[in-house]
Amino acid sequence: MAVRPIVKHPDPRLRLPTVAVSAVTDEIRKLCEDLADTMFAANGAGIAAIQVGSYEKIFLVDAVVAGGREEGPPVVFINPEITWLSPETESKDEGCLSFPGIFTPVERSLRAIVRAQDLKGEWFELDGMELTARCMLHETDHCDGIVFLDKMSALKREIVKRKIKKLQKAGKWD
Ligand code: ZN
Repeated sequence: MAVRPIVKHPDPRLRLPTVAVSAVTDEIRKLCEDLADTMFAANGAGIAAIQVGSYEKIFLVDAVVAGGREEGPPVVFINPEITWLSPETESKDEGCLSFPGIFTPVERSLRAIVRAQDLKGEWFELDGMELTARCMLHETDHCDGIVFLDKMSALKREIVKRKIKKLQKAGKWD
């Protein structure tokens, strides 16, 4: 059990490529436990390994956000791949643990299917709508060194960048 420090924008480590996990070892399971602890401590809906400075292709999504009805352990996605995206999109407010306090609309597919391995190394597919799809897509982007700032309209991106600069000046952004 360990909460790890979260890497915040504009740290260049958020832009590094991640590497596929060749085997789900005890070390990987420990990283996933730490990711769950870090996500809960920060009140996040999802977290990617790159956000704690680990470069394995892994992310977690909160159990309820992943479509579960009850609070359970987060769903772990190892070596995630998007296998299908709906042509229908929706624009909704999105946040990111690497951009604390920033919530801005981002347009994404309404529905997505993501294939990944679980903690036993077994492949599974999750077919999600709305928030489930949004969260899976946001976290898959992190695994490719993409942050939600890149997905915003040019106007929204400028507004967010300005807001971050103000927070940095006020010493409220580390
Ligand atoms: Zn994020």
